[in-house]
Amino acid sequence: MTDEMVHPNCVSRGNVYGCPHCHVRIATWQSQTDATCPWCNTQLLRSDTTHSDSLPECLMPFTVSREQAVAALHRYAGKTLFAPDAFEAHVERAQAVFVPFWIVNAKAIGSVALLGHIALRRSRTYYAARRAGRKSFADLSVTASTHMSDTHLDSVGPYSIDDPQPFSGDRVGDVATELPSKTALSAADQVKALARESVYRSLLNSTLYSEYNQHSGWFAIGLDETVERHEEARVTRQRLFAMPAWILHCTWEGKDLLFAVNGQNGKCVGNLPLDNLKITIAELFAFFVGLGLVMLMAGMLMLTYLSDPKEQAEALLIPLSVGIGVGVVCAHAARARIMMQTQTAVETSHDDRAQGTHTFVPTIRWDSKPSHTIEEARQQLRDSER
Ligand SMILES: [Zn+2]
Repeated sequence: MTDEMVHPNCVSRGNVYGCPHCHVRIATWQSQTDATCPWCNTQLLRSDTTHSDSLPECLMPFTVSREQAVAALHRYAGKTLFAPDAFEAHVERAQAVFVPFWIVNAKAIGSVALLGHIALRRSRTYYAARRAGRKSFADLSVTASTHMSDTHLDSVGPYSIDDPQPFSGDRVGDVATELPSKTALSAADQVKALARESVYRSLLNSTLYSEYNQHSGWFAIGLDETVERHEEARVTRQRLFAMPAWILHCTWEGKDLLFAVNGQNGKCVGNLPLDNLKITIAELFAFFVGLGLVMLMAGMLMLTYLSDPKEQAEALLIPLSVGIGVGVVCAHAARARIMMQTQTAVETSHDDRAQGTHTFVPTIRWDSKPSHTIEEARQQLRDSER
């Protein structure tokens, strides 16, 4: 960490607190000293400023009030009937926090030389390709929070960064500001690695494609070998933002549950606690619905085609076993549906970061003539260097 990477407005006037349990560092301008950690409810302790404690440069104000955040959490929990009622008792304790994110712009250039083939029925045609291009990235967000991972950030986002306000103690009022756990340098390294990989993927994608041929049907171009590969990336702008969030921490049956509400749009994230009794009731209900439907249909057929009550009773054994099978499938489906509804929020992830935009500009696009062997294609690649 070099000194010039620290933003000039280091923590000096506000008070810095540290959580002895989860080690989050928080700056606050409020006068009372009995604050608790928004992430784990542990009593915060006064701590010293360290040279890496840079304050955010920009602040996005809260547009979601406490009442609205609590209402959003109620709605989120109410989406499914399977969250235990005890969760409701915690909802009122949601705390406002400014969460630190790095917002980064970057540029990357890259070039590749490839050997590939086109498979057409049983024949293969080999080719060589050179590609170069540049890609620019705007407003990529990288978390600097101890507790909010990039995946959480993608789930609770997108955050708007239009019209940011300069960060100041007056503006945050009595809202706690989480200090960044990730330095500018490591956030920049993360973005540069992402930019290099992304420009490489764009170059590859510009050689790999599928096409429909009238005579032979679909064919695909496959990659055999990356002969050369080079990428470079640099960060062109980097700012530390304080993003508004409502955080709710509660424990349920010994498990820590964490919920976040986007302070700009009220979007919620967090895995809901599940009430096993309620799930079992739902599974039993689904089981009997499945079984009942099969038996009802079978019964109607029996009454139409069989008149002897003994024959009817014997014939019902087959639909009974089929019905039990269908019931079990229904019960499993019900459980899977409930799990999906309550557990998806934080588990979605993206190849490219959801937030931020990027544009790819190709600068070199060269393809060899089709060859019968990969060596012939390789020779064409060598010749193209001269
Ligand atoms: Zn804590």
